[in-house]
Amino acid sequence: MVPEYIKHAGKVIKEDDTHTEVELVCECGEKCFHVFKNEPTDEEISKIAQWEKRLKGFRKIEGMSDEEGNVFLVKRNIFGKIVDKVRISDMPEVSKINFLKSICVSCGREYVVFDNRIHGYDANCESETKDISYNGFVFAKVSDEALRIVVKYENNSESYEEYVESFGYVSREKFSNMFGWIYIYGYNEKSRRLIFEEETS
Ligand SMILES: [Zn+2]
Repeated sequence: MVPEYIKHAGKVIKEDDTHTEVELVCECGEKCFHVFKNEPTDEEISKIAQWEKRLKGFRKIEGMSDEEGNVFLVKRNIFGKIVDKVRISDMPEVSKINFLKSICVSCGREYVVFDNRIHGYDANCESETKDISYNGFVFAKVSDEALRIVVKYENNSESYEEYVESFGYVSREKFSNMFGWIYIYGYNEKSRRLIFEEETS
């Protein structure tokens, strides 16, 4: 099944019971793209750095929970006495967003190649109309050269009807955007390589 979101940006080159492969083709006909992936934001990087700094000097880290169920990482002195502790739940959350976009080398049109907030099985935990922002991302080029891109999806093993019966209503469009694995390959004249993969379930 071809995910609805990629239909306007690609051409199906292979489809069988288990997988669907789509080559990206720009609306202008171009097949070469620069591909970009989001990186952690400066805020995330600095939160993690602060956390790591806080844990400095914790020679041997061990966990310990209190009566309320809070789990702490503790630091002991040479006599075994706890001299410092931090609560595990204070660990900064690192965003698990994976967002890849491609930009046509000829006309500059942008396409979403994958956004794990709305594509794949994980996306189904959220409502269909959730607001997602495309602001605030920092992007890095996946490859210096422009590449032809093929996206391979692992198809749902269930039909739409089976899925709805087991898990409740989702639209057909949403269902088409749910897949177990995604593999993104980049091609040049000489070779192909895997530039991204994610298991979404
Ligand atoms: Zn184009």
